[in-house]
Amino acid sequence: MEFYLRFPAWALGLCFKCEVYRLVAVLGDLTVGGVTIKLYACHPCAWRLEQLHHQEVQRRRTVALVTMTRAENAVAA
Ligand SMILES: [Zn+2]
Repeated sequence: MEFYLRFPAWALGLCFKCEVYRLVAVLGDLTVGGVTIKLYACHPCAWRLEQLHHQEVQRRRTVALVTMTRAENAVAA
C-alpha cells in the first residue's frame, strides 16, 4: 500500500518530532495526565516510525519463534 494511504489523514500541521510546520500525517491521540492532544508527523518522521514499528514486529516474531522452538525441544527431550 502506498505510504500516504497507510495513514488515516494528512493535513498541514506541526510534526511532533522535527517541529517543522508542513504536510503531516495524523498519527492519533496522545493522552498524558488526562489531557488528550492530536499527534502529527511529517513524511520522514512518519516513515521512521513505520520502520520502528516494523522492527518491533520482527523482534516479537523472532522471540515467539525462539520460544516455540525451545518449547518443542523441551517436549522432545
Ligand atoms: Zn518530522
